[in-house]
Amino acid sequence: MTSRSKSQGLVVLVGAGPGAEPLATAEAISWINQADVIVYDRLAGESLLRHGRDDAKRIDVGKGPGRPSPDQGEINEILIREGAKGLLVVRLKGGDPLVFGRGGEEGEALAEAGVPFRIVPGVTAALAAGAWAGIPLTDRRVASSVAFVTAREDPAKAASTVNWSALAGIDTVVIYMGVGNLREVIGRLIAAGRDGRTPAAIIASAGTPRQQTVTAPLAELPEAAEAAGIAPPAVTIVGDVVTMREKLAWVEKLPLFGRTVLVTRPARQAADLSNRLAQLGAAAIAAPAVEIAEPDDWSAVDDALGRLGEFDLVAFTSVNGVEAFDRRCRCLGLDARSLGGVTIAAIGQATADALRARFIDPDIMPEDFTTAALGEAIVSAGNCAGRRILLPRADIAEPALAQRLGSAGAHVEEVAIYRTVRPAALSDEAVAALSGRQVHWVTFTSASTVANFLALLAEAGTDPAEALAPPVKLAAIGPVTAEAIRAAGLAPAAIAAEHTLDGLVAAIVRAETEDNIDE
Ligand code: SAH
Repeated sequence: MTSRSKSQGLVVLVGAGPGAEPLATAEAISWINQADVIVYDRLAGESLLRHGRDDAKRIDVGKGPGRPSPDQGEINEILIREGAKGLLVVRLKGGDPLVFGRGGEEGEALAEAGVPFRIVPGVTAALAAGAWAGIPLTDRRVASSVAFVTAREDPAKAASTVNWSALAGIDTVVIYMGVGNLREVIGRLIAAGRDGRTPAAIIASAGTPRQQTVTAPLAELPEAAEAAGIAPPAVTIVGDVVTMREKLAWVEKLPLFGRTVLVTRPARQAADLSNRLAQLGAAAIAAPAVEIAEPDDWSAVDDALGRLGEFDLVAFTSVNGVEAFDRRCRCLGLDARSLGGVTIAAIGQATADALRARFIDPDIMPEDFTTAALGEAIVSAGNCAGRRILLPRADIAEPALAQRLGSAGAHVEEVAIYRTVRPAALSDEAVAALSGRQVHWVTFTSASTVANFLALLAEAGTDPAEALAPPVKLAAIGPVTAEAIRAAGLAPAAIAAEHTLDGLVAAIVRAETEDNIDE
């Protein structure tokens, strides 16, 4: 909670970093979490908007297809108007709000209008580019000064006020906004005395999985950038420090760098997988193909939970099952003690971790994280003949586990403690990436994600066979998911050996490096 009084309102000018979420500061995320209103534009990274409250008002003040950006006066008015309503307004700006970001003008307008404001710094593009391209902006051996300069000045200013000859004497120069007029800007720097042979680099989409870096001697950089198809946003770094990239480049060496991967997990759980992929350099795109919902009718679940102590064993087959079980038990006034004498089985590591987080240590976990292996583990632990077993599962769970335990003599009660439902539509970002042929992998973590994803594709008017044609590859978390892919007439290109998210990511990395299937 903030200490401001509700009636006063507050506008926070927040630096969002260069676009990708990991480079947003903890303070930026914290303000976004709390905001009543979020005013943003394209460079501020739409992925951060996810951190806003569902009921927060989101105002896009950026350029859109066929839509010019509102002028600065209009943006100032929006901030003043929303702030004056007594709301907490977050003005999200790419990079740092005060580095070529007009945050100063917005702050002045707020100060004049008497609306309280704060300023939260962000990672500016130059710093993201330096770190991610392996180019130190200073180095005590070769560079002890650095300057940030814009290639585009206020059109109202008659002549350039950039002191190019002074800049020619600065060790490292970082040029913002220069893609369109790179030739002209570099020409000015050289005319002012900078040696055309000075090492230089242009870095596009710095600090994001789509980063692209081109290096060349200063005089040759415009041609090299054009040949490589460098597109905005990009910064240019000029100086001897650029040669240090030969040893310090690291992003390009990440195993999944340059790969775009669709994550079909439920929106709330996508981060588990997306973060793992991003750490290996991939661009992960959320394409939720399932959402978790409550059962329509709780009576069977409540009846079983009311008799928990009568069961000899409860087997959990997913994290979702554990979470749903936890939530419903709380509603009924039950806690972990209700499971006091009950043997607990978990299908795998993630499910076991979810139980441990709730002070329940599972007694049984199979080596292979499949339902078939779970069934055998329970049977061989001697937990079946005449025993009562509860399976709190999804509405669409396969009957095989209950059948296996039943055939070993157990009285099995299976209750649908959550439902998996198909989202209304495929995410716009996923549709755009697929139709733009930018996707390298689609990851599936259950058979239902396969079926739903294909159905969502068809509903989006996309021919699945066409959208998923090579070079798109499909990855499955285990044999059942792989079988669902095959049943749809497609072929999995990676199947996790260990049926966990880490196993799935490892299978993709292996397929990328060896191009073969591990089963
Ligand atoms: N306030 C921002 C800069 C806004 S001006 C900041 O502090 O970074 C817009 C310019 O910033 C772009 O034209 C480009 O030169 C640079 N820029 C912004 N994001 C970038 C990124 N991810 N990679 C490279 N340059 C970027």
